[in-house]
Amino acid sequence: MTPEGRKWLENAPDEVIACKADHHPWPQLRIGKLPKGIRLAPQHDGCWQLTILCPNCERQRVKTTLPGAIWDRSAVYSYSGGKDFSPPAGAGITRSDYVAEWWRRIREAGMLAGVS
Ligand SMILES: [Zn+2]
Repeated sequence: MTPEGRKWLENAPDEVIACKADHHPWPQLRIGKLPKGIRLAPQHDGCWQLTILCPNCERQRVKTTLPGAIWDRSAVYSYSGGKDFSPPAGAGITRSDYVAEWWRRIREAGMLAGVS
């Protein structure tokens, strides 16, 4: 990791570090009312575009159904956006760096004190 990468990592919001160290808590599509952060938009060809927004970091993932709103298991999500999500180019930050930073913050926040 470059010094610039280190600086970015140490200043990135907690939410971004949590998502990069662990996972994005994507809202789940459920029967009934669409949950906050999920959008379904009709496309011109009878397909539907599903957009899901991460409540932590605002990264979004998008997938489009087959015509007739048939779920295409082989299609992959495309990902974009997210606040302060991208480190500087060439920063060399690895998943392990995010995990280490996440746990540094957990220790620093005193979350382990008094827990037995
Ligand atoms: Zn996220």
